[in-house]
Formats: sequence, structure tokens, C-alpha cells
Amino acid sequence: MSENKKTLTTSQGAPVANDLNTMTAGERGPALAQDIHLFDKLAHFDRERIPERVVHAKGAGAWGYFEVTHDVTKYTRAKFLSEVGKRTDVFARFSTVGGEKGSADTERDPRGFAVKFYTEEGNYDFVGNNTPVFFLRDPLKFPDFIHTQKRNPATNLKDADMFWDFLSLTPESVHQVTVLFSDRGTPYGYRHMNGYSGHTFMWYNAKNEYVWVKIHFKREQGNKTLTREEAAKLAGEDPDFATRDLYNAIKDGDFPAWMVYVQIMTPEQVEKYRFNSFDITKVWPHKDAPLIPVGKMVLNKNPENYFADTEQAAFSPGTVVPGIAPSPDKMLQGRLFSYHDTHRHRLGTNYHLINVNSPRVSGEHNNQRDGYMRTDGNGGGGPNYWPNSFGGPAPDATFAEPPVALTGVIDRFGYELTDDDFVQAGALFREVMTDTDRAHLIGNLVAHMKNAQVRIQKRQAALFYKADKAYGEGVAKGLGLDVAEITKLAAMTQDERVKATAK
Ligand code: NDP
Repeated sequence: MSENKKTLTTSQGAPVANDLNTMTAGERGPALAQDIHLFDKLAHFDRERIPERVVHAKGAGAWGYFEVTHDVTKYTRAKFLSEVGKRTDVFARFSTVGGEKGSADTERDPRGFAVKFYTEEGNYDFVGNNTPVFFLRDPLKFPDFIHTQKRNPATNLKDADMFWDFLSLTPESVHQVTVLFSDRGTPYGYRHMNGYSGHTFMWYNAKNEYVWVKIHFKREQGNKTLTREEAAKLAGEDPDFATRDLYNAIKDGDFPAWMVYVQIMTPEQVEKYRFNSFDITKVWPHKDAPLIPVGKMVLNKNPENYFADTEQAAFSPGTVVPGIAPSPDKMLQGRLFSYHDTHRHRLGTNYHLINVNSPRVSGEHNNQRDGYMRTDGNGGGGPNYWPNSFGGPAPDATFAEPPVALTGVIDRFGYELTDDDFVQAGALFREVMTDTDRAHLIGNLVAHMKNAQVRIQKRQAALFYKADKAYGEGVAKGLGLDVAEITKLAAMTQDERVKATAK
């Protein structure tokens, strides 16, 4: 802890003479309402906890920098990417997703991977995960999905029935489930995992020509994961393992670093691609869209105060700068609303004024005024409306995003499935994983699924079978299910399968 040899004061700055004894009426008498210091202290303490993040509640953060290593100006006009060697300060926060603030760092869960870049054109937030895909591709399903990862409303326990019921009724999740139940679902702390945007974003250059990109942060520390047994042991012995690992590495000068890459598809490629490129349950295979190097992120400073920086940090995929814009990925479109909204609820409407969130390099110049915790000058006496003729901040048309062509009708569409939902999960199982990876994946699944009802186990095992025969058979055998029955279920349509496993 750092030293601070100042006189103790009240929250209003008045010196405090005694911070150990409450003011009472007589030596043994009751406390007095005029003990302003006592009530000031208790009242503030009563309000110390802010709402917990509904997802990503447990996390650890660090300060650092991003440095451009390769010229990408033909793809994006973003100033912070405009020159090789250019550095931008960043704050990164890593997290688990489903657990509460006190939950164990080694739980099986995707890991949040969020980075705020303080650029001269405003803040840019990268809000990714350590997995390249997601369980869903429509934001309407998101709140329901998260309910199934949290606690049963009656028992207040994590519930394997809720978990597998929903996933087995949501076949597009099978790719992410395969990643999650591999040992990458229990990374060795936060330093040894990759970060993926998952979503596709638009990058556009100074001529307003655009491409679609997916962003990858690749750890320089090498891949390191925990087995199920190691993760369970650490959850008991050191539930804050990942937080400690990150903090100590930085304290000891062993700064973690990630190389940043983009995969690129042109609008023409996306038009002709064999599946919807904006479907976040699918990766862009490297052979179709190779990794193009952009820069490097290094984390080299721990926060001095956890609450001030890590807890109050607020990221949003909608926080972008000129040169970067959203794609039509529906999950992303939902997140563009939801992240800002949750920060307004959790931190207040002026959360962008908190030090860790403020656009410290660009400044903020607009006509937003007032609201709780307006801690800056609130625009002073300047004009608070546009248009005005008093020299207030004015829009600049040179920052317009490129127009994107659109056709169609308004409706509620599913994703068209030219590559079905099982192709990439199967490729991961067959072509990327080693024998050990496959054995661990099946062991991890069996250990979790065995707590769900047998009819749900069957429905889910059939989805794994559809991804790969050996995958489905391995899970079925591990659960003691009849492999012939799973084979039959796998051959059915999802509707038929749901009916066949209704009871
Ligand atoms: P490649 O053979 O070019 O690359 C395989 C990728 O898989 C590598 O990026 C590797 O990450 C990653 N990987 C290895 N084991 C796991 C695991 N257990 N869980 C998640 N990722 C893992 O493959 P393709 O591009 O042709 O894709 C094949 C499959 O690889 C995909 O279906 C997908 O499941 C997975 N994958 C693909 C990614 C992509 O963007 N194309 C990204 C991540 C996974 P690393 O190099 O860091 O070890």
C-alpha cells in the first residue's frame, strides 16, 4: 500500500480529530445524531457496492500500450493505426462471464478480453472473448442464454438441466461448446489466452473504401491451459489465481504481450462466400482469410486502485473511432445497444467522465449536459445546442462512414445455412485437436453433462454426433448412453429430435 501522510478529513474535507470513538451522550450513553463524521462514514460505506455486472462480473485489469508494427493504412483511416511505431495507451480487462464477483477464476467459462485504446479521435474499445465464436447469433436469445448459465431460480444452484436443455435446443451453439469444453475453456490465467473480436467490423480508409475484418490478439506467452482436475483444485486453493497471476507478472516486470492481427474479406468476397460471413458462430478459416499483422499490445502497469480502474472500466463494442464501424452481425447490433445501456445502469449516465473511461486524449466536445455525477465543467457557459452561431463544437462531414448498399424487406429472419452449424465444430475436433485434446474434451463434457436429465444428454450427444461421429460416440459412451439411439437421433431434423426427447 502506498503512504499518504495527510490529516484525515470528512468527505467534505474538514479535519477529523477522532476516528476511533463515536460521540455519545455520556461515557455509556447512546450515540448522538450530531456525530456528523460517524454518519458520513456509515452512509458512504452503505453505498460502497455498485451493481455487479450481469455478465463478466469477476475480472482483472492492467494498463499498457499498443504499438503499430505494420502499415494498414490502405484498410483503415484510424489515426492510432496510421504509422508504424505509433503508440497508444490502453487499459485491458479480462474476466470470466457467468460467475459472480467472488467466483473462482478457473471456472469453465469463456473469458472476456476487453481493451480500451485512448486515441486522439476518441476512445476505441475492443470487446472480445478468448474464443473466436459465440453460442448464439441473435441477440434476442442472449438474456435467456445467460439465465441458463446462472442459478436456478428455485434452488439458487448452477443447474446442468437448464444449461444443457437450452444448448441442446440451440444447435448453433455446438461450435462454441466444443471450444469451451476443450481445455481452452479453462485457460492458465489471463496471460496465456488469445483474444478474438468474434464479430466482424468494417474498416474503411481515407478514400472511404471499406473491407470487413475480424480482429485477433495472439498471446506471446504461448498457449497454456488447465485440465479439469487442475482447474477444480485451483478453484479451492486459489480462487483468484488468474487475478494474482496477472498482477504478479506485471509487478515482477514480466509484461504480457499480444500480437494483433486482422482477417480481411472484401465486400465482394462476403457477397459470394459460402456462408454468411457475419454469423458469429463461425470463424473465417485461415486459408480463406489469412492473419495480417497490425501491432502489438503490452501490459506493463497494474492499477493503483482496483475499484477506480478495473471495476469502473466500461467497454462497449459501439465505442469506435473513424476508420472502424459495425457490421450487420446481429449479435453485434444487439451489443451496440446493450453495453452502453448496462453502463448507464451500473455507473450512471456520465460514466464516460470516470478517469478510466474518459476520452482523455481526444477530449469530449458535445451538447450533452447535466445528469448524475457530472464531475467536469458541464460545458461551462458555452452553447448547449446545435446548430448554434456561438462557436460551439460543429459536426465535420469528412468523418462520414462509407454508405453500404442494402436491399430486402423488414422481417424476423434466421441465418441462411449454407455451411451447416456442425461443419466447423467437426473440423476443430478432427483436424485441429490432438488425441489428448479430444480425450479431455469428451471427459470434460461427460463430467458436466452427467448431471443433466438423460433425455437432455441424448439430445446434446446427438448434436456432437452430427459434428463428428467419433465425437458423438465418445460422449455417448462416456455417459453410458445407447450409441445406436444417438445415431438415430442425429439423423433426425432438430424438430424431430426435440419431439423424440421431450420426455
Ligand atoms: P487452422 O488450422 O488454420 O487454425 C486452427 C486454429 O485453432 C488456431 O488458430 C488455433 O489457435 C486454434 N485452436 C487450437 N485448438 C483450439 C481449441 N481447442 N479451441 C479453439 N481454438 C483452438 O484452422 P482453420 O482456420 O481452418 O479453422 C479450423 C478450426 O479451428 C475452426 O473450425 C475453429 O474451430 C478453429 N479456430 C479457427 C480460428 C480462425 O480464426 N480461423 C480461430 C480459432 C480457432 P492458436 O494458433 O492460437 O493455437
